[in-house]
Amino acid sequence: MTKQTFVTCKVCGKKIRLVETQLGKWIPCDIAHIGYVPLPYSREHPEAHFVLSLDGKWIRCYCFNTPSEGLYAGYLPHFRTCGSKVADKVRAT
Ligand SMILES: [Zn+2]
Repeated sequence: MTKQTFVTCKVCGKKIRLVETQLGKWIPCDIAHIGYVPLPYSREHPEAHFVLSLDGKWIRCYCFNTPSEGLYAGYLPHFRTCGSKVADKVRAT
């Protein structure tokens, strides 16, 4: 089981979780779980993403908004969703 803690993102103000990877790094992730299907490394899959598995490993995969759509549940790194919020704020001002 990974160590994790909940914090508020300083950029977008959302509640997020910090998840410790198996390499001992703390990665900010969204609160909601996502679903994923692992992919082997290949240039044929440029749309592949990296997510964190529930036990703290980086997984190259296709990911889905809900865990039931994938083969496994995992965590989506928060910078993926946080970046779009920043872009929205910049456009609004
Ligand atoms: Zn954020």
